[in-house]
Amino acid sequence: MVLTITFYSFTLCTLLLSANAAPAHPPKKCPNGKTVKNAQCCIWFDVLDDIQENLFDGGECGEEAHETLRLTFHDAIAFSPDLTAQDGSIILFPDELAFDANEAIDEIVELQKTFIAHHDVTAGDFIQFAGAVAVSNCNGSPRLEFLMGRPDASAPAPDGLVPLPSDSRCRFSAQELVHLLASHSVAAQDGVDPSVPGSPFDSTPDTFDSQFYVETLLKGTAFPGDGRDAGGVESPLAGEFRLTSDMNWLDKRTSCEWQTQIADHNKMMNNFKKAMAKMAILGHDRKDLIDCSEVIPVPARFSLPRPHLPAGRTIGDIESSCATATFPSLSADPGEETSVPPVPPS
Ligand code: CA
Repeated sequence: MVLTITFYSFTLCTLLLSANAAPAHPPKKCPNGKTVKNAQCCIWFDVLDDIQENLFDGGECGEEAHETLRLTFHDAIAFSPDLTAQDGSIILFPDELAFDANEAIDEIVELQKTFIAHHDVTAGDFIQFAGAVAVSNCNGSPRLEFLMGRPDASAPAPDGLVPLPSDSRCRFSAQELVHLLASHSVAAQDGVDPSVPGSPFDSTPDTFDSQFYVETLLKGTAFPGDGRDAGGVESPLAGEFRLTSDMNWLDKRTSCEWQTQIADHNKMMNNFKKAMAKMAILGHDRKDLIDCSEVIPVPARFSLPRPHLPAGRTIGDIESSCATATFPSLSADPGEETSVPPVPPS
């Protein structure tokens, strides 16, 4: 099966999927007392403890979690059929940091280098592991799959494979791209408009919910900052950032899938988990990798608020919807018009 993709600054890539599963191994008890299917997974418990404490500030869905999830896309998408994708090249080869589409990603790359060296794991595996752990820290998130065994990249990805936020290029299926955009429910921008660092893409950046899909359907009214960069367009809420590339994907091809994401949280979680599992093994054969998903924390189950309109908005402010299905019934938050504070830097 061959697919291709794009994203927040995220991208263009080819998915090579195999139905083959990794060979079974007898259960193994790790030094920390946890049981795993394959002893090689034990090392990831040490990595987990370290990054939860020292990268994610005790397990928060904050700036580092957002940037870590973003990095999974940027390592995967700079890919061509001749190169492996999720291979850590973005960390191993500083050349990639100079690509325009990788703006402001150098900080998380520098942070992750320390953990990779300390635990002696490959950069490609670490990026995926840390991404799955980051997602698990966000309220309402799915538990993502994690497979290990990516060899280190031997060369940087060529420039031009990662589209800019202003690009509409994408060879990933439109439906799966909509599913992957759930990552923008727990995300914020720094470099697209540096005048408003930390401005999120929805009003709940610490929660993996459908507000991203609701709020991107609202009429845009103003830029959150002073930048009128090609990467951003007018957003509906003060402090909220709207990416040009996200809006380029909201059209007749995707409006019904977009709307479905609002109405069914379990489906949204499962869609994201499935699409991320595909992206995580870009350029690899699944049968060559070891399933260590059991190391990924089971996300705490929070009772999420129902999808809603921000305060001060009505259903009449919804600008686009599916022509073949009824739009979900949403009520507006009470009180003063919603404004969105920036995600605080750690
Ligand atoms: Ca959210």
